[in-house]
Amino acid sequence: MTDIVDTLAIRKYTAAGHHESHYHVAEKLAHVHLAPRQPVTYGPSGRFEHDHPLSNLLHKNETWAKSVVDCSCDFFERGALGQRPEVLWLGCADSRVPECEILQLAPGDVFTHRNIANVVVNTDLNCLSVIQYAVDVLKVKHIIVCGHYGCGGVAAALGEHSYGLIDHWLLNIKNVKQQHIKGLDDLADEEEKCRALVELNARQSVLNVAKSPILRAAWERGQEVDVTGLVYDIKTGLLGELGYHISSLTDLADHEETGSSVLFTGKP
Ligand SMILES: [Zn+2]
Repeated sequence: MTDIVDTLAIRKYTAAGHHESHYHVAEKLAHVHLAPRQPVTYGPSGRFEHDHPLSNLLHKNETWAKSVVDCSCDFFERGALGQRPEVLWLGCADSRVPECEILQLAPGDVFTHRNIANVVVNTDLNCLSVIQYAVDVLKVKHIIVCGHYGCGGVAAALGEHSYGLIDHWLLNIKNVKQQHIKGLDDLADEEEKCRALVELNARQSVLNVAKSPILRAAWERGQEVDVTGLVYDIKTGLLGELGYHISSLTDLADHEETGSSVLFTGKP
């Protein structure tokens, strides 16, 4: 690729009436602005221009990588050999819920899929592919579905406003809302209603993961993997347990039998 770029540039240069040796042409080419990332096999270029709005991110990355090596000199070399995470995290894309940071885990510890409002549905090939790879290949032991209070996706699904394309995605949460509409309508406070739907939406995703043929097959062949529901409070930085811990088809059946009124009142 370098040769092609150089040749093209040299042709352009000589076509303009210059007839210098290749050495001199190459020397002048050093001042010709060529795409800095060519060829891609050279790997990443060193820096953005210093006034680029993202240059600070590369600087922070360099500082971070150095600090990691200072603590563990072969950390990245070991990571390059492969990953063996024990946890699959299915969470919201919200920037305030970064799984590794809130769990105090390092790169390599968590396999992750995040989307708007941590929705797991059996039509999402992206999410299902992540689950299948995590269970069948990585053999994760724990799958965590994590909702979070203050979720914009859940709040949007509670309302009637239209947001365009994302309305299709929010329909999944609106369906959950409809399943539990009586209990939700009984809650007078809007924030409380939103917090309840955050929990119900996470519960539904837990059930949908557990109901998937991927988990069914894993349990049937005796693989130990469980599905747990958590909720994160962005006001405190704390994770809480939602009471859904499913590690077998029997557990799944028990949780599926729980009626909506029981979820709101705690009474059968
Ligand atoms: Zn969210």
